[in-house]
Amino acid sequence: MKSNEMVPIKPCKHMEALVSSLSDGSLHGAARWYTMWHLRVCSQCRAALEGFKTLRSRLKSFQDAHSEPRIGNQEAMLKKMDEVDKQFKAEQGVDPEIKCDSVG
Ligand SMILES: [Zn+2]
Repeated sequence: MKSNEMVPIKPCKHMEALVSSLSDGSLHGAARWYTMWHLRVCSQCRAALEGFKTLRSRLKSFQDAHSEPRIGNQEAMLKKMDEVDKQFKAEQGVDPEIKCDSVG
């Protein structure tokens, strides 16, 4: 049987923000109470909460793994942008204004 772990489960439409907040511990007071109550009766939102938690922990470990200095990356990105820019100009050939009368 296939696990559906990778399929993001969406909470009820009106619960999205609440479930998300609950998963990162930023939900308090009546909203928290309400969400907890809803989770008791709604398996979809329970599953969604688990999904949010998994996503957050994955995101965190990803950020931890990539928290090294990224100056090299930035340089490479600027180079790439320059490349793309040149390529774009090469593909365009001439200024757009000049090739207006090329058809006909
Ligand atoms: Zn729900």
